[in-house]
Amino acid sequence: MQNPSQNIRKKTRQIAVGDVLVGGEAPITVQSMTTTKTADVEGTLQQIYALAAAGADIIRCTCNDFSAAEGLAMIVPRSPIPVVADVHNQYKMALAAIASGVDCLRLNPGNIKNPEHIKAVAETAGENDIPIRIGVNGGSLHPDLYKKYGGKVTPEAMVESAMEELAYFEEVGFEKVKISVKASDVSLMVEAYRQLSEVTDHPLHLGVTEAGPPPAGLIKSTAGIATLLLEGIGDTIRYSLTADPIQEAKAGRQLLEALGLRERKNVDLIACPSCGRAEINVYEVAAKAQNAFEEKKLPLQIAIMGCVVNGPGEARDADLGIAAGNKRGHLFVKGRNVAVVKEDEMVETLVEWAEFITANGVEAALGRVDLEKAQKEAERDRAHLLAEHGDDVNGAQKRVDLIRKI
Ligand code: SF4
Repeated sequence: MQNPSQNIRKKTRQIAVGDVLVGGEAPITVQSMTTTKTADVEGTLQQIYALAAAGADIIRCTCNDFSAAEGLAMIVPRSPIPVVADVHNQYKMALAAIASGVDCLRLNPGNIKNPEHIKAVAETAGENDIPIRIGVNGGSLHPDLYKKYGGKVTPEAMVESAMEELAYFEEVGFEKVKISVKASDVSLMVEAYRQLSEVTDHPLHLGVTEAGPPPAGLIKSTAGIATLLLEGIGDTIRYSLTADPIQEAKAGRQLLEALGLRERKNVDLIACPSCGRAEINVYEVAAKAQNAFEEKKLPLQIAIMGCVVNGPGEARDADLGIAAGNKRGHLFVKGRNVAVVKEDEMVETLVEWAEFITANGVEAALGRVDLEKAQKEAERDRAHLLAEHGDDVNGAQKRVDLIRKI
């Protein structure tokens, strides 16, 4: 499905981070950051492999001392995804990171302040064909800019910081740049990126910094990143959570799939919120299904519905679904009843059908059952349910009648 935001995506120039393209018409990518000591080569590689499997396209590792740079020299050739070195205060660390062979650098203009040092890093990066992310952070804005804007972090101050750094790079003819202007305040971050996208066509890396632990961290990150993506702004994203980075990679990937900005690779589990009509514990079955599909790469939308009265209709567009009725699970494919299973076999049956559909397609799945028989059984259970509870199980009609008497 083509998402409308694809059509309005702001045109940015393209850079290559290793073999992953960022900007232009390249798919929006997911980034995360390792939490291991970079000098711990095996531990860091193990985390990178896990993050790549969870959906990260690019990984960032801290390069905070020379032992980390040496670790990067061993990590980069064995990493399944491009590696960005996060360089903090010393420009010499940036030079060490370049020497280690990383695919990209991230520099914080608020930390490496000497223009000559900044230019030296850009020059060396240019000679080695390594792009740089200018990573402005609201929390570590250059003191001069902080003062200039009245002791406040403003979107204007953040954009000015990025453009100032970019000017140093341009002085030495270095152009392979992507930019971020992250803040922990969602509105500030959104406005800073909007302003930035007006004044530059360099690709933008989106994120809400220090978003905190989930669920608040997930909500803040999604609010900021999704708002911008739907306006066509952003080329690569990172969730910054106070949690296992696997959650960051998964969240990033899920957001892009949910917005239709990346091809679906994982199950999109939808489930009804449950109500008085529910024939099963929808929360429990949905949680069990979520676990069962967690590690499976199946590009399907799968529905768990609490009853056969409304379920199949409400989830008509799902590739596959199950609705409970009369202590049984009614399985449906693209809204058509295909089988009836015991309640305690619902999730494993869903998994089996999901794997079959992914391997053989919807038509083949519909072809392997007696559709008429399944339809009749579903209708019988639906009628049973309606006879047992009536068709006003939530008491809505009674309330309407009350209102009409007022
Ligand atoms: S009517 Fe059925 S499908 Fe809809 S919320 Fe209630 S239990 Fe779920």
